[in-house]
Amino acid sequence: MRLLVVPLGDVPRDLLADISHALAKYGLRCQVGEGTPLPAEAFHPERGKYRAEELLRLVVPREEAVLAVTPADMYADDLSFVFGLANLGRPGAVVSVHRLRSPDRERFLGRVVKESVHELGHTWGLPHCSNDACVMAFSNSLEMADAKGQDFCESCRRVVPIATDPTRA
Ligand SMILES: [Zn+2]
Ligand SMILES: [Zn+2]
Repeated sequence: MRLLVVPLGDVPRDLLADISHALAKYGLRCQVGEGTPLPAEAFHPERGKYRAEELLRLVVPREEAVLAVTPADMYADDLSFVFGLANLGRPGAVVSVHRLRSPDRERFLGRVVKESVHELGHTWGLPHCSNDACVMAFSNSLEMADAKGQDFCESCRRVVPIATDPTRA
């Protein structure tokens, strides 16, 4: 499956390349696309964050799937922050690297890839999974994000349209 990876705001090209490389292990053929600047109107001054839904709206599906990567800290209606957002069963996902940062580059990249795969799972129709080890487990803290696995559990795996053993490739 092809995946277009696009920066939303200022994202280093080498990070986009590293994400694409890591996602290739999931059978995703990534291509880095043109970036879009962060829209000022999506910023909520009191919250000091961007509204995730408005950023997601900018992710116009141009391929089978599009993943936007943004440095913007994001919030959603009832959540003070979100790592990412996607509409269930609809192409297009946005992931924020803001809260995933770590001095350890591998750890940082691992988190970004995990959250990216999680949001892509939503685009393929997967809801949150009750299996804590599954990449579709809901996480609203770095601890939870770090604790879950990078792959889909057996039952989620049946739904996704990609080959999903990232450890094998
Ligand atoms: Zn989710
Ligand atoms: Zn699962």
